[in-house]
Amino acid sequence: MDHFELKDGMLHAEGVPLARISAEAGTPIYVYSAATIERHVRVFREALAGIDDPLIAFAVKANPNRAVLATLAALGLGADVVSGGELKRALAAGIPAAKIVFSGVGKTAEEMALGLDEGIGQFNLESVAEAEMLSQVATARGVTARVAFRVNPDVDAGTHSKISTGRADDKFGVAYDRAPDAYARAAAMPGIAAVGVAVHIGSQLTDLAPSRAAFERVGALIAALRAAGHAIDSADLGGGLGVPYNPAVPVPPSPADYGAMVREVTAGWDVRLIFEPGRVIVGNAGVMLTRVIRIKEGKNYPFVVLDAGMNDLLRPSLYDAWHNIRAVEPNGAKFVANVVGPICETGDTFARAREMDQVAAGDLVAFMTAGAYGATMANTYNSRGLVPEAMVSGEEWAIVRDRQPIEALIAADRLPPWL
Ligand SMILES: *Cc1c(COP(=O)(O)O)cnc(C)c1O
Repeated sequence: MDHFELKDGMLHAEGVPLARISAEAGTPIYVYSAATIERHVRVFREALAGIDDPLIAFAVKANPNRAVLATLAALGLGADVVSGGELKRALAAGIPAAKIVFSGVGKTAEEMALGLDEGIGQFNLESVAEAEMLSQVATARGVTARVAFRVNPDVDAGTHSKISTGRADDKFGVAYDRAPDAYARAAAMPGIAAVGVAVHIGSQLTDLAPSRAAFERVGALIAALRAAGHAIDSADLGGGLGVPYNPAVPVPPSPADYGAMVREVTAGWDVRLIFEPGRVIVGNAGVMLTRVIRIKEGKNYPFVVLDAGMNDLLRPSLYDAWHNIRAVEPNGAKFVANVVGPICETGDTFARAREMDQVAAGDLVAFMTAGAYGATMANTYNSRGLVPEAMVSGEEWAIVRDRQPIEALIAADRLPPWL
């Protein structure tokens, strides 16, 4: 469910016609709906009803815009961060340090120090070597860090290979069979208290069975760790719940179904549960608004050439992702087209032979469900400034990130003294 609807023949974000935003701010631009974000938080929270005091730590990498994070902070969410930069963004948006979990496979000593100095809630560690480094950094500061090991349950999430993270040969986590040894070694290290178990098997999960299998393995591990004398008081079940991108494929499990599965599997664990949803909170809450530069003839289908490229929305070229592509003012007719950007790469193709609203040069087009892993992956390839972002709330809207002027890009380059 989202708040992007046709009203009087024009696609709106809540009460604001998208053409009003493009008239003032230009294209391409991401547009977020605050009401949709709030709705998704409410639905996720309701899905966890009956679970005692869960921590919902939004996966910042899905959408790190400060206005998005501030919206979530006001709703009481925590944050799951994977870099010092994300940690600083979460704090800048008003998310309390105690609700921040620091994940990621390559934390540096500097990033660990930042997390410790800010007093974050938990570090999710990915190896014994990382535990050793955190132990040193924490000991030097005279503090003890709460940590969990992220375990790799060797479960195939059944999603796109590039967003599967829980198979034995994926880079993430401590191998399940070696986890008891990791906890035993961590117990002997000063400055860290290994009190949690964490798991995250992938993203855009469309079937609950792999998550259930992974959580069952976590439950068995918690029992084994307790039997070995470790005081485990939290379990972080990660994120990954999918969102509907394509109306023609079966919808992913609902948050309610996910919550019911979690309640069933975790019954009796006696831990605080942590969740790290990203996509399911913001995915449907954003669109990328772009304009048709021209229609170019093709051998089989016309090419719709947009002013947005793979640098603005990378998902189709990186993950073969499918986004619904709609005319902002549909004329009722459909056609079949290839939808491409202006970048000099064949990979800069958003859709091939797509049946879609008929559009012409100058028309506005919206990429639906672009709120997660959209603007955050944007880059400046082909010397295109970073794409701007706007947020709508009811009848109001505001720019929440400026378009990066090309002059700023050029000015960041430095000439060496010999030129
Ligand atoms: C990316 C990530 C998430 C969020 O995944 P979604 O599919 O967006 O819910 C959660 N936890 C970790 C550790 C991640 O890397």
